[in-house]
This record gives sequence, structure tokens and C-alpha cells, in this order.
Amino acid sequence: MSLALYTLVGIAFLVALFFGLRKLIRTYLTFRGKMLVTCPETNKPAGVEVDAGHAAIMSAMGEEDLHLKACTRWPEREDCGQECLSQIESSPENCLVRMILTDWYKDKTCVYCRKAFGEIHWHDHKPALLAPNKITVEWQEIPVEKLPRMLSTHKPVCWNCHIAETFRRAHPDLVIDRPANRSHLL
Ligand SMILES: [Zn+2]
Repeated sequence: MSLALYTLVGIAFLVALFFGLRKLIRTYLTFRGKMLVTCPETNKPAGVEVDAGHAAIMSAMGEEDLHLKACTRWPEREDCGQECLSQIESSPENCLVRMILTDWYKDKTCVYCRKAFGEIHWHDHKPALLAPNKITVEWQEIPVEKLPRMLSTHKPVCWNCHIAETFRRAHPDLVIDRPANRSHLL
């Protein structure tokens, strides 16, 4: 083979590699993380996780292959037909818990300090929720399948206020309350 042909083959290989990798990364990011679906069997919410690594590798090879690697109804229903995958396939972003939460916090303000949430950084300083019993909880503590109900009964709390409230609960003797700031919560 001539040098020109080698170069051409090399370029073709690199282009194919680039598109394959791009597809792999995109697919991984699309399906990575906890998801909320309606279980077709019970018609109730269920928390699931897609095997995003497998889906990404298959997509790079030009195939679509989604399957679950976790479900809150497992191990009892581990042999189900995974029919909920059609909901994920048609709209993965509507099933992703972090997207559902981003949407929920988007136009809200912290129930304590009244600050708007703005852009949420999910890797740290995540916002929390205020339960009806006035205890703040981090959303990771809430089972995914209970999220839809929680979002209708709980109020949004920013990270700083969540930490302050957690400290207040643990050390009530060290905190001096200013009732004017909290009157809207009573
Ligand atoms: Zn706050």
C-alpha cells in the first residue's frame, strides 16, 4: 500500500473512533443515574437504574440495547419483562431523578432564607427538602419511588439552611432564634 492509502485508512479509522466515542459518551450520560418510572404492572412509581455502561458500549457498536441493572421492586420482580424501559427510551430526561428535581427546584425559593435556587450543582451543596414534621432531609435519603408524593408534601430548602437546621436540631442549646426570620414557617 502506498503512503497515501495508509494515511487515508488512518484518517478513516480516527473518524470512526471519534464518532464511536462520542456516541458512547452521549449514551452513557443520557442513561446514567437513578430514574423514576411508572411500573406497568402496578401503575405505581418505581425507582430504576439502566445499565448505562452496557448501553454505551453497545451504542458505540451501532446497536441499541437497554436493560435495567436495578429496580426498587427487585428482587421479588427481578424476572419481569422490564416493560418500563419504553418510558425511558421515549423520554430519558423525564425519567432521570436529577432532571425531575432540577425542574422542581427551578422556580422555587428556599423556605427559610427565601433565596432562589438558580442553577443546581448536583456534585456538591445539593438542595434539601423540608418534611411536614419540620425536619430537613437530603433527597438521596428518599426512596425514588416515594419522590412524586414527597415533592407534593415537602418544601424546598437550600444547602446552607439544611446544614443550619441540622445543627439547630443537634444543638438546640447553642442556637439563639430570631423569631422574626422564622415566623413564616410556624
Ligand atoms: Zn436557605
